[in-house]
Amino acid sequence: MRIVALAGGIGGARFLRGLKDVVTPEDEITVIGNTGDDIHLFGLKVCPDLDTVMYTLGGGIHEEQGWGRADETWSVKAEMKAYGVGPEWFGLGDKDFATHIVRSQMLTAGYSLSQVTEALCVRWKPGVRLLPMSDDRVETHVRITDSEGTRAVHFQEYWVRLHAAVDAEAIIPVGADTAKPAPGVLEAIAAADVILFPPSNPVVSIGTILAVPGIRQAVSAAAAPVVGLSPIIGGAPVRGMADKVLAAVGVAATADAVALHYGADLLDGWLVDTQDAGAVAAVEAAGIPCRAVPLLMTDADATAAMARAALELAEQVRS
Ligand code: GDP
Ligand code: CA
Repeated sequence: MRIVALAGGIGGARFLRGLKDVVTPEDEITVIGNTGDDIHLFGLKVCPDLDTVMYTLGGGIHEEQGWGRADETWSVKAEMKAYGVGPEWFGLGDKDFATHIVRSQMLTAGYSLSQVTEALCVRWKPGVRLLPMSDDRVETHVRITDSEGTRAVHFQEYWVRLHAAVDAEAIIPVGADTAKPAPGVLEAIAAADVILFPPSNPVVSIGTILAVPGIRQAVSAAAAPVVGLSPIIGGAPVRGMADKVLAAVGVAATADAVALHYGADLLDGWLVDTQDAGAVAAVEAAGIPCRAVPLLMTDADATAAMARAALELAEQVRS
């Protein structure tokens, strides 16, 4: 079976770990990763979502934090601070720095982001084919109004520095309109037997991937059933700021509103948490088969059960 999953950072990576637990060795998983969170810091290209997937599936993630490396040290950050060189609000540990140095060195030498990602994965062996959504630069910006006025800030500044404390007025995936899907992305979608939307952020993770011209069309035209899992449980994101960015695109932070936001032209199936069983009828009324199952990734077994439920729903809607 060829499985394609679109993924952001933590929500995507943790789900993929569960998915790997339930597939057979013959199955192939291709992950199309969000690169709209990418940021240039200290002259280095940082790809937080690709790295979260790579570290999580490769066994290097800081488990509790959900991002960055386990057993990290912070000497470089302290040295940068001693030089008065920021930003200080973005956490890059020493081990993590090495990843960004290797990536930036290869990009400077002329390799594409897909080639660099493949090279980094030689070390991490994530057990999936990890493709950036695009080799072209795309950067999600967020329009906000605060004491400094109305302005657009980088998504990382909105989330990491400002903690999403002010409302997001608009989400702008800068560069997405002219970006091309990375090599292999459209081919993987077309050849897939199942396409999954993990419980990643529907706006700034999966929404950004779908904003790359050609990807949404390919998913909607794919022969494979497309099944998604709600990142919203009981009217709130399990973690993160999905409610803020959903509000910016006029979507309520509920499990059914997210399904309808993707729409029946994209989704062939949707999973909501058992807490949201009341939302099933509204999703099905929109023409999207829907089931209520436990959706909290509390441990490996619970996450594997979610992946199994998604694959089962895909089989049901296929026949
Ligand atoms: P990010 O790039 O690190 O923000 O990660 P993603 O976009 O992949 O995932 C973020 C989303 O994961 C958030 O909207 C969370 O609500 C969701 N999430 C995190 N943990 C869980 C969980 O255990 N269950 C569900 N259903 N969603 C989760
Ligand atoms: Ca992200």
